[in-house]
Amino acid sequence: MRRSRNAKIVATLGPASSSPEIVRRLFLGGADVFRLNFSHGTPEDHSRRVTIIRDLEKETGRPIGIMADMQGPKHRVGLFTGGAVTLTAGQNFRFDLDEALGTTQRVCLPHPEIFAVLAAGSQLLLDDGRLRLAVERSGADFAETSVVVGGTLSGHKGVNVPGVILPLTSLTAKDHTDLLLALQLGVDWVALSFVQRPEDVAEARAIIGDRAWIMSKLEKPAAVERLEEIVAISDAIMVARGDLGVELPAERVPAIQKRIIRSCRRVGKPVVVATQMLESMVTSPVPTRAEASDVATAIYDGADAVMLSAESAAGQYPVEAVGMMNRIIEQTESDPQYRQMINASHAPAAPGHTDVAGSVCSAMRSIVSLLHASAIVCYSSSGHTSLGAARERPESPILSLSPHLPTARRLALAWGIHSVHTDADVADVREMTAAARDVARREKFAESGETIVAIAGVPFGVAGTTNMIRIATA
Ligand code: PGA
Ligand code: MN
Repeated sequence: MRRSRNAKIVATLGPASSSPEIVRRLFLGGADVFRLNFSHGTPEDHSRRVTIIRDLEKETGRPIGIMADMQGPKHRVGLFTGGAVTLTAGQNFRFDLDEALGTTQRVCLPHPEIFAVLAAGSQLLLDDGRLRLAVERSGADFAETSVVVGGTLSGHKGVNVPGVILPLTSLTAKDHTDLLLALQLGVDWVALSFVQRPEDVAEARAIIGDRAWIMSKLEKPAAVERLEEIVAISDAIMVARGDLGVELPAERVPAIQKRIIRSCRRVGKPVVVATQMLESMVTSPVPTRAEASDVATAIYDGADAVMLSAESAAGQYPVEAVGMMNRIIEQTESDPQYRQMINASHAPAAPGHTDVAGSVCSAMRSIVSLLHASAIVCYSSSGHTSLGAARERPESPILSLSPHLPTARRLALAWGIHSVHTDADVADVREMTAAARDVARREKFAESGETIVAIAGVPFGVAGTTNMIRIATA
């Protein structure tokens, strides 16, 4: 089974997509990676979903990526008497640590770390930015505000403090528990929410080690300011436009999205564009034209993957949403302008990629284009050679062979890679060529007589040695 596109689809699982039958239809319809959102659901929900995915993997013989998305330090107000209150512009409203139910005058904000960084003039955004309050006075356990934009506020709604670096790690106590569960379940990717600094990623890495790859979600202005450093220390990046568009004015999101994609492509780290991509499909079987165009933009920009959140997790049309995304990607990639745009935005070797492996991948790109090769075969036990190949955004599909199952699964996220788990290790170049030929034919990437290009590192099985290109006929 193979996809006829380069960019990948990440589909979030939730109440609307938890039966084996729906998960199967999502996968067959195009989902390459499944996201478990630890902001919702019980440990049993997550572990049941992992079992369903791994069963599906056995049935189809295709490695499937699983991403565990940590909730992170999402701040929320307490509860209100009567469930909700209406705040009007101009009125005063107080936040404090008192656990008593909230009123139209005050509510609990159980986060002393927020009070610690507030000052007169700070802005507080509530409920995804729908309400805006300006701080007039604050102390260690309270903040007096004046309502700038009012509205209805119900209990447990989110609070954002834009433009402020909170003195927090990005892993809360809940995240620590969730992370251990996720690692026990054998997920392939861990997504970190509200990363602010490279240190946040390092802290998670110290716990995770090489048990999973780390995707940093860029949703804080502070993280955008340190984009290059965070990209460097992460294994992949998510453009988390939901919270990003609350922390920053929405009109700044498009340019930042493009900048993040460019930075990731430069160094060959996978980048996922997420949130509200086909939002109207939560309740409608067809997307708006603007949404179709939004998905296409991410594809023209060369993103590795596009993501569905509520559309596949909680919407009425999860299967249709994946099918629609699949068709938009296929259509976009078949547009002749697509290749021109991908080539035009290709960055020649970045610092750190001017080494032997980078040069091999760069040469591979030209060879494939000149010879119109049917497939690129990559031997990659750690996955880095295959990512190096994907970085080149070559014109032919990349068949990535890894004897390491977690690698094969992680690479399901990456642009242009058809990931295969092989049990047979190869010993020399002759064996490698024979295996490349076999796999290319078996996976229907090349017919007998067509050209394939293999890249690998000799000696085999040692990570970080990519140093060889072999041109062969299938
Ligand atoms: P979330 O992250 O869905 O976990 O909030 C994505 C986003 O903020 O866009
Ligand atoms: Mn978010």
